[in-house]
This record gives sequence, structure tokens and C-alpha cells, in this order.
Amino acid sequence: CCGLAELLSENKALTWIERDREHMWHHMQPFASSQNPMIVARAERATLYDVEGNAYLDAMSGLWCMNLGYSERALADAAYEQMVTMPYYPLSQSHLKAIEISEKISDWLGGKHHIFLSNSGTEANETALKIARQYHALRGEGTRYKVISRYRAYHGNAGSALAATGQSIRKQNYEPLTPGFLHVPPPYCYRCPFGQKEDSCQLECASYYDQVMTWEGSDTVAAVILEPVITGGGVLVPKPGYLEKVREICDKHGVLMIVDEVICGFYRSGERFGHQNFHVKPDIVTMAKGITSGYLPLAATAVRDEIFNVFKGQGEFTHLRHLNTFGGNPSACAVAAKTLELMEERQIGTRVRALMERMNERLERLRDVPLVGDVRSFGFLAGVELVSNRADKTPLDPTVMGRVLAHCKQRGVIVGRNGDTVPEGNNVLTLSPPFIVTDEELDRIFDAIESALHTVADEYREWAF
Ligand code: PMP
Repeated sequence: CCGLAELLSENKALTWIERDREHMWHHMQPFASSQNPMIVARAERATLYDVEGNAYLDAMSGLWCMNLGYSERALADAAYEQMVTMPYYPLSQSHLKAIEISEKISDWLGGKHHIFLSNSGTEANETALKIARQYHALRGEGTRYKVISRYRAYHGNAGSALAATGQSIRKQNYEPLTPGFLHVPPPYCYRCPFGQKEDSCQLECASYYDQVMTWEGSDTVAAVILEPVITGGGVLVPKPGYLEKVREICDKHGVLMIVDEVICGFYRSGERFGHQNFHVKPDIVTMAKGITSGYLPLAATAVRDEIFNVFKGQGEFTHLRHLNTFGGNPSACAVAAKTLELMEERQIGTRVRALMERMNERLERLRDVPLVGDVRSFGFLAGVELVSNRADKTPLDPTVMGRVLAHCKQRGVIVGRNGDTVPEGNNVLTLSPPFIVTDEELDRIFDAIESALHTVADEYREWAF
């Protein structure tokens, strides 16, 4: 009769951390490190407070998503209003907020698009990949099924999106995945896979797509999927002209270009979408995370009307046979519409560009700090690649990387790390602060990193830097 009451009182006696250990299975954490998670109790603007009341500046916006910070009342109100007006309806039919956000996304992209709504970046990419294959089939080119992506890229945690991911450790024990996925070397100028230097580079990493398509047979290739810059895989920023060259090669071979804007979208790059920093027009654009500023799950797959129109025929196999129960949830759409409205109202692009300038100054200063091998940025996100030896670029040992992060945390700043997902690539600190950080907070983030790096370098003084 009183099982629940007993359980509750028993739980009261346990600390949060003990309760966590009893039942929580943490995302992407090795067992040892999942034993002491930071348990966040509340958050305000760019600051997280753990259960013990410690404050931390969140230099990662959660997982690259809380772009408007943690205290945006208008977003919570939009969700509440929608929930009490009309909490749910599937998108085999329609609802007002789904129409509103679809119009807005199309408008932000420029040119007419149709938008398929889902819940996560993974789903947005799965949708895009299905659309690409079916598009070719509908045009009588059903032999085109292969998809080319890049090593080090991340596109999602399941099925084809994981197959497109180019990080081997994320796949181990889960293979075989969806067949038909090929990978090409990333544009990684600090460690150029083609052995080129700044002045000898001919964008071999872009031309490589051309070779792969030719060797595979153009008529077997459906799509290329890529981010404007590789973010989670270590912030790998291509040289100018790369994206344009890939577009050109896709056109030459009749291959669709899918641009994954899950991280780079919604002003993270300084523009509405990351690819708008270049001269390219993607065929399909996927987005999630920042679309609601992280307040509710929503994702979108935006398809250019030239592609969409091919699906207009009559018959069972002409339409996209794809749905998800919660995709385009009305409250999530309402929050997304409000997010975009706030960004426009506040001219967020201007603020982001000012922050980029300040961040880039601080990043340049980091070049002289011990352990720093390379600094890279795109818009208001950055990667700091750490090495134990600048001359031979030996990646910093994972344990030492852990020390750097711990020292940043001790100084009240949470920075990211290019996860333990690429054997040679877990040595990049990542930054993606909310757009509402103050100049002083941004300085604090960099002060913490600089100081943490000096301390760790001192700890390992016997190494030659
Ligand atoms: N694409 C990119 C570029 C991402 O960074 C992520 C998530 N980090 C995804 C896709 C997958 O998104 P989700 O976790 O929402 O499925």
C-alpha cells in the first residue's frame, strides 16, 4: 500500500548523485566519467547552476543549441500558449504554427522550398537521404543510391545518418550500418590529408569528390552530405572556394548537395545559415538545434522546389512515404517561430558578428599559449587544437585533455571537446557560446582557457613544447 511513499522517503535520503548512479544511463560517456556528472539544477542567461549552487558559464550553449540563452521568457510563453491552444496534431494534415515556421524557413533560405518537419538532426538527415534516393528513382535513375560524406563529420546517431558519419568510434559494435555510404578526406588544413601547405593547396580535398564519383560511376551516386564546416569533428574550416567547388562537382555528376546546418544554422555562422557565407545553393538543407534555441525538439528538412516538384506525380510511390509522430509538434513550431522573430527583432546577426570579432582576437592570442597547436573558427564557434609538441603536432593525450577541461570547469567555465570519437581527433577544445553572452563573459571564457592551459602545461613541464 505504501510502496511509493517508502520509495520517496528512501530517495530523499539518497543524494542526487546516488540516485543518478542508480538509474541514469548517460549519453556518450565512458562508465568512469559518467559516475560524476554535473547535475544542473537551474540556469540563467549563459550560466548553469549545479545542485550544490556552483555557477558555470556555458561556453557550449548546451550541445551547440541554446543560442538565445537559458532565460528567454518569450520562448517559454510561446510554448505554453500553444500547448493550451492546440497541443498536438500530426502533419499528414496541418496546423498554423507548422505553416508559419515553414514559410519562415523558406524565406530565410531564399528561393522557394518545401519543408518536412521532424524532431532531431538525425531525423532531418534521414529524411534528406530518403528524399535524395527517391528523387533519383522518380526520375528514372534508380541506380543512384550512394552517398558521399566526409571522415570526421557527424550527421546523427542512427541508421543512414550514422552511416554518413565519418567518426569510426561512434560506429564500432553497431555495424554493419546502411550500405552505400562512402567517405572522403576532410578539409583539414592543419593536418592536410593530401600533404599540401597553405601556398601549394589546390583544394585537392574538394577535387577528390570528382575522382570518387568518376571511379564509382556517376550514375550510382545520389547525394553528397556535408556541413558548411565540420563542427563536432574538430571545427575543420575549408579554404575559400571549397564549398563552391563541391557544388560544381555535384552539378557535373548530377548529384544532389545536402547541406547539414544542424549546428551552423540560425546565425551561429553570423548569417542565417552557414552556407550563406559562400556562393552555393544547396538542393536540400537540414536543420535542428538552434531552430528553437534548444528550448524544444524540432528539426526541418528544406527541399528546393525544383527537387520537391518531382514528387508531385500521382500514385502510391510518387510521394514521400515517411512520417514521424511528433515531428512539427505545435509548441516546438511556436517556439521556433518565436526564436526567429526574436532574432530578427534584435538584429542578432549584428551582435553575433561583434562577438565573432572579439572571439577571434582572443583566439589569436591563444596561439602563443602552451599546448595550442592550431585555432580555427567559423562564425561564433571555435576549435582550439591542442598538441604536446608543436613541431611534430603530436595530439595532446586524452587524459591531459581531460585535465584542461577540468581546470576550465574549476574556473567556472564549461568548454566542449571534440568527443572521444575519432582515434586521432579528441584533442580539440570547442566553443559555441550563447549569443547573449556579454563581452565580459566572453573574456572570462578565454581567461579561464588561457589560465587552464598554463596550469596544465606547468603540470606537464617535463614535456617539450
Ligand atoms: N548533424 C550535425 C552537424 C550535428 O552536430 C548533430 C548533433 N550534434 C546532428 C546532425 C544530429 O542531431 P541530433 O542530435 O538532434 O539527432
